[in-house]
Amino acid sequence: MRYRMIRLALEAISVLGLDSAFAPRTRGAGVILTFHRVHPDNGSILPENAGLSITPAFLEDVLRLLRALEYEIIPLGAVPQRLAEPSGGRPFAALTFDDGYRDNRDFALPILQRHNAPFTLFVCAGFAERTTPLWWLDLEDAVRQLDGFRLALPDGVIEARTQTLAEKMTALRQLYWRLRAFDEETLRAAVTTLAHQAGLDPLARVAALCMDWQELRAFATDPLATIGAHTLTHPRLAKLDAGVARAEIAGSRDRIREELGLETKAFAYPVGDPTSAGPREFEMVRDLGFEMAVTTVPGVLKPGQMMTALPRISVNGLFQKEHYLRALISGLPFWRP
Ligand SMILES: [Zn+2]
Repeated sequence: MRYRMIRLALEAISVLGLDSAFAPRTRGAGVILTFHRVHPDNGSILPENAGLSITPAFLEDVLRLLRALEYEIIPLGAVPQRLAEPSGGRPFAALTFDDGYRDNRDFALPILQRHNAPFTLFVCAGFAERTTPLWWLDLEDAVRQLDGFRLALPDGVIEARTQTLAEKMTALRQLYWRLRAFDEETLRAAVTTLAHQAGLDPLARVAALCMDWQELRAFATDPLATIGAHTLTHPRLAKLDAGVARAEIAGSRDRIREELGLETKAFAYPVGDPTSAGPREFEMVRDLGFEMAVTTVPGVLKPGQMMTALPRISVNGLFQKEHYLRALISGLPFWRP
């Protein structure tokens, strides 16, 4: 429902030509784009997961569109300086890829190289080390495998029959958002239980999808690549005690230094919405010496932006059309008088 409304709004902006008409006033100084997986097939039945994957062909389209709109693609590290400069020049775009998926190397990197486009890869140490599961994918796969489930949660039992595709889609969506409301431990325990029932091997999946440190070492040598930190275990930081949250942030920077020999200045909040990262985290990241940190709160960049709470626009798998992205980066959907 929510996605249908967004699509309608973007279509309207595009059909009426509002994006081109208003962009000079609403697009801000530039934009940071978020990518997750880049690969040819996306069979996800959960919209929240389908959104996290685009095809290599669409990545090409995105880069072509940015060029056509005369955006300058700059490294994320150059964003603070660009925001400090007087406005009036070309808008800029910084490209960011979260989590460290191997398909970023296999499918996205050749395209980025062809366009000479710098980018930042936010690495989660627990994925590189195969110790943290990709719970959102395990949840989807478990429900796809199971004909039904019964799960005891702190606020009661959730039970569903999941034999047909329609039943699976409905139950999955409900379960996803119900679990997202809990603390990190409850969410992870519930997904582990379901994954076991479905006979899944969550850590084998991480190994199949994410680059390990050795692969990341080679990947990071590309002159277009910058590595950023993305915690140790990919938790929603705002749900954790302050000490644990701090250790997650600082620890991920330490692991990158130890394994890749790099000093990272950029951080991405896992999940990154207001329930996952708030004022406490923005301050924590600044105290730890990061120069910038990105959320997933949608928006374009304006001078005076808080550097550890930068908004980003997701290049979303559910909206793989040039005119949707053009409407989004015009800033019009986020414009407030
Ligand atoms: Zn992430």
